Amino acid sequence: MAKIAFIGLGNMGGPMAANLVKGQHQVTAFDLSAAALEAAVGHGAKKAATAAEAVKGAEVVVTMLPAGKHVRTVYETDVLPNAAKGALLIDCSTIDVDSARHVGDLAAKAGLEMVDAPVSGGVGGATAGTLTFMVGGSEGAFAKARPILEKMGKNIVHTGAPGAGQAAKICNNMILGITMVGVAEGFLLGKRLGLDVQKLFDIVSTSSGSCWAVNNYLPLPGPVPTSPANRDYQAGFTADNMLKDLKLAQQAAQASGASTPMGAEAAQLFNMFVNAGGGPKDFSGIIKMLEGK
Ligand code: NAD
Repeated sequence: MAKIAFIGLGNMGGPMAANLVKGQHQVTAFDLSAAALEAAVGHGAKKAATAAEAVKGAEVVVTMLPAGKHVRTVYETDVLPNAAKGALLIDCSTIDVDSARHVGDLAAKAGLEMVDAPVSGGVGGATAGTLTFMVGGSEGAFAKARPILEKMGKNIVHTGAPGAGQAAKICNNMILGITMVGVAEGFLLGKRLGLDVQKLFDIVSTSSGSCWAVNNYLPLPGPVPTSPANRDYQAGFTADNMLKDLKLAQQAAQASGASTPMGAEAAQLFNMFVNAGGGPKDFSGIIKMLEGK
C-alpha cells in the first residue's frame, strides 16, 4: 500500500483515484472543485485542503489536470516544493511535449523521478480500470510507476524518454478526432439515404468501417448505450480537450515536418464547433454541427 496524492479529480481523475483506493492504496485527494473533491471522498479518498497539503508525505503524486499550463503551475507551486525525498511523480494529463519535458527537467533538478503517463480509454476505461497508459521516462521510473498504473489500467506501455508518452498520446487522439468526424459523416449520410441507424451500426461495427468511435462512442443515440449521444452529449471527453489535442498534434507535425492534412482539417472543424459554443459538450457532439443543428 502506498501513500498517494491525487490532484485533479474531474471526469477522468475521479474514477482513477477511486480505483487506487480500491487497489488498497491510501489516497489523499485535491481538486479546485469542491464537488469533485467530495465525490472522491465518497469513494474513500482523504480530503486535502490544498494541493500542497496532499503532496506532503506522499510516496507517489498523481496529477490529472486539463492542460500544460495547469500542470506547470501545480508542479511549480505545489508539487516540487513539497514532495518528499524519493517521491515518484506521475503526470497522467494530456499536455504538450514541451511542458512535459519542462516539468520533467524541474523534477530531475529537484532529485525526483517523474514519468509522463497520459491515458487512452475515456471515462469508461477510467471507471473500469482498463485504461491504456503511454509512459515516458527512465526505465527505473517506469518500473516504479507500473504497479501503481496497473490499478487504473490494463495496457501499460513504456514509449521512451520523458515526453514520449505525450507524443504517443497526441498521435492517438489525432486519429480519434479524424475518425469521429468520419463516423459522424458516414452515419449522417446513411440517415439521409433513409437507412435505419441500428441496422447501419450492426453492419459498420462488424465491417471494415469498424473503429472505436463506432463501437464504443457512436455519435448518434441508440445502438451504444454508454455513448454520450444518449445523454445530450454530456462529456465524456470535451470538445475543448479534443481541440487542445488536435492543436498539439498540428504543432508537433509542423515541428517534425510530418504531413497531416486530415489532422489539420479535423482541427479546423473542432475549432468551428468550439467557437459555436460546443466546447464543454462531448466531442462526439460535433455531429450536430455537421448536421447543421
Ligand atoms: P476535467 O476538466 O473533467 O478535469 C480536470 C480537473 O482538474 C477538474 O476537476 C478541475 O477542477 C481540476 N483542476 C484544474 N486546475 C486545478 C488545480 N490547479 N488544482 C487542482 N485541480 C485542478 O478533465 P478530464 O476529462 O478529467 O481530463 C483530464 C486530462 O485527461 C486532460 O488533459 C484530458 O485531455 C485528458 N484525457 C481525458 C479523457 C476523457 O475522455 N475525458 C481521455 C483521455 C485523456
